[in-house]
Amino acid sequence: MATLEIRDLHVSVEADNSTKEILKGVDLTVKQGETHAIMGPNGSGKSTLAYSIAGHPKYTITSGTVTLDGEDVLEMSVDERARAGMFLAMQYPVEVPGVSVSNFLRTSATAIRGEAPKLRTWVKEVKSAMEQLQMDPAFAERNVNEGFSGGEKKRHEILQLELLKPKIAILDETDSGLDVDALRQVSEGVNRVHATGEVGTLLITHYTRILRYIKPDFVHVFAKGRIVASGGPELADKLEAEGYEEYTKGGPVSG
Ligand code: ADP
Ligand code: MG
Ligand code: MG
Repeated sequence: MATLEIRDLHVSVEADNSTKEILKGVDLTVKQGETHAIMGPNGSGKSTLAYSIAGHPKYTITSGTVTLDGEDVLEMSVDERARAGMFLAMQYPVEVPGVSVSNFLRTSATAIRGEAPKLRTWVKEVKSAMEQLQMDPAFAERNVNEGFSGGEKKRHEILQLELLKPKIAILDETDSGLDVDALRQVSEGVNRVHATGEVGTLLITHYTRILRYIKPDFVHVFAKGRIVASGGPELADKLEAEGYEEYTKGGPVSG
């Protein structure tokens, strides 16, 4: 079973001609088949964690390690990370002009599997995955991210997740901007992927509401650039009732 290990990760960004440390020693292990939720207040560094693992150039790793089965993820190109079995939803936030969703998905699947999926079975796979997410078939012919609504972007994320079958998936704010129906459909997609037992998911969110639909195996509280508490699903219930205040006392720590 594949294992993603994050050890004492420190990350800085350049802002206003100064360097600001955002991540201050993150430790986390995610195994294939497990669902982890990372929850925390706005500005605590959750997206920075996701971008850092994705290899976003804006974020400088100053110390610590990220490995997938012992292989140094931080040394890998973005493509290599995908081929190693990592799915980073925030990797493709941009519009890809002239590339349809359908072609984009097949190209991604080819890169990850090492060979092009057979066209006939592929078309069926895409169709059935889109039906499950209650997506209009016409969506497959639209250009990637061009004019996508918030909800379409998130469904596209989950569509990729279901079709590309990564070992480890990192989903940042998958619930933001979704109405209740879309939230449920997206959550059901995450649950289907979890049910295969083959995908380890790191679900990053500010809101506890998605955890009414997705039951994580582990919940981690993220505050001031690190994980400050970990537990089971009961921790999400506690956060829903009490908020993050207990973890943010003493005001924000500046970089
Ligand atoms: P969260 O996702 O938990 O809301 P972020 O990781 O987006 O938190 O941000 C954490 C802190 O790092 C914030 O103070 C934010 O302003 C800062 N930050 C994140 N990314 C950048 C960036 N690219 N440039 C400058 N500051 C950044
Ligand atoms: Mg440290
Ligand atoms: Mg964020």
